[in-house]
This record gives sequence, C-alpha cells and structure tokens, in this order.
Amino acid sequence: IFFRVHAMPKRETKNYTPETAFVEGLIHDPFTFFCVYCSEFAIILDVPLEKLPRRKTDCAFVIPTPETQLHRNNMEEGDCKLLKREKGTERQYRWLCRGCKLVLAYRSTDFKDSGGALYLKEGAVTRNTAINLTALAEKTVNIPECICVTEIGVKVILNVTMGAPVPCTVVDILNKAVLLQVKSSIKKEIIHYLIEKFFATLLGVQETLVGVTVVQETEKESETSLAMQELLEADKEKVLERAVVIRTDIAPRLVLDKLVQSCTHSTKLHTTAATGSSDA
Ligand SMILES: [Zn+2]
Repeated sequence: IFFRVHAMPKRETKNYTPETAFVEGLIHDPFTFFCVYCSEFAIILDVPLEKLPRRKTDCAFVIPTPETQLHRNNMEEGDCKLLKREKGTERQYRWLCRGCKLVLAYRSTDFKDSGGALYLKEGAVTRNTAINLTALAEKTVNIPECICVTEIGVKVILNVTMGAPVPCTVVDILNKAVLLQVKSSIKKEIIHYLIEKFFATLLGVQETLVGVTVVQETEKESETSLAMQELLEADKEKVLERAVVIRTDIAPRLVLDKLVQSCTHSTKLHTTAATGSSDA
C-alpha cells in the first residue's frame, strides 16, 4: 500500500512507507522513523520506541548509547538551548528534521562530542508515513486499518506495552494497531479500566460507552518484517493485544485526529525566529 504524502512546500511529493523503503534497500532495519510533521526520513533505531526507556521530565524516549543504537541519522544539527529545570538549568543540543526543521531530538553534549544519551522527543517521529500532521491537515486522509466501524461502534486495535512515565500514552499509530503504553506500576487488572478512561477523556464520551476486549490470538501478518515479528514473539507477554470499542456514532476520522493530537501534543515547529527557552 502506498500512501500519498504531501511534504512541505518546495519539496517533492513522496510515495513511500517504511516497508517500501526497506524493500528498496534504502533501509536495512524495520525500526525506521519519519518526522511526524512532514514525513521526512529521520532515523533508524535498533529497537521500536516502546522498548526504549522514558525520561520523566518531558517523557522523551531515551537512546542510552546512540553510537550503537542509531543505525542511521538523517537529522541535522540545530541550535543549543538552555532550559530552566527545577534543579537548575539544562543544556540541549537539538537535532532537527531535515525537511521542516521540527525539533526531533536532543543531547546534553555538544554535537562534535561523542558519548551521552540521545533523547527523542515524545510524538516527534512515527513509523507510519500516512500519519503526519501535514497530511492530516487535509480533508481526506487514509484511515488506518486499526480504526474501523463495526455494528456497535468504532473499534480501535491496540498494542499495549508497559514503561510509560504517565499512566497511559499513545506512542505511535501504525496501520494495524495503535501503540499504547501504560505505566509499569499499573496493575494488570486495571489496565482495561485505564484504557477505557483514557479513550473516554480523549474523545469526550461517557466511560460507560467505552469497552476494552482481548483480541483473539490469531495468525497475524507482520506489518514490518520477520525481525519485528520475532521480537514481538519474544516479548509476547509484554505486548497486550486489545481492542477498544466506542459505542457511539463517532466518526473514525475524529478518533484518528484525537489520537494523533494526543500522540503529538508536545511537538511544535521550530523556527529560527523563535527566541527564549520556554519551549521545553
Ligand atoms: Zn519534518
């Protein structure tokens, strides 16, 4: 499936997905991430986002050893920002999207220095080039397969993992599943309740209209590659397959928009004219 993606002005329209880029030999690893704003190729990681530790301060994904974990880096060096934190100041050397200059990541060490973790901003990159803020600004957009209309309402397929710094958060929206992450300390028994509450709040509907079910374990085709499938097999107990049904006549497009908004709430465009350090 090819998604038609409009890049930023003055840039050519691209037609690719992580999968086709992988097949074309552009990319040797399935964990390829694109800018959430313009779909420019950003980075290739050795693990999916949901396997990375999270930073408590800003929910950023932590890449502890970028020298070995970052298989490719297409980001460009930005400026250095000094941020006020509770315990003093923090220096951020920022990495930008090559296409639209959105701040995607940062390090606390200078660009020319090696060593030190790389922090990937929450909601700045996606594996799904059909989900970008530029495409979503248009009236028509492909609704991912994981959001569908059933007789009783809109159903959303979820892959739930642990490790979020907040009770419940959207990591990414793939074609086959919305990647949801919950706090590790959350007891298994209340995960369903937590997800119901999350969707009720997100969509502004009553909690009683939202129901979570366990997805029947079936032979499912991999969205990326064998490597990903093997990884999911190995961590099966950590990836919960769930479906959430919203029993109203809510439009799938609205569900998608709300999920994307939730996912990208902390991303904003970086402009060279921007001043100050309040945009942590
Ligand atoms: Zn971009």
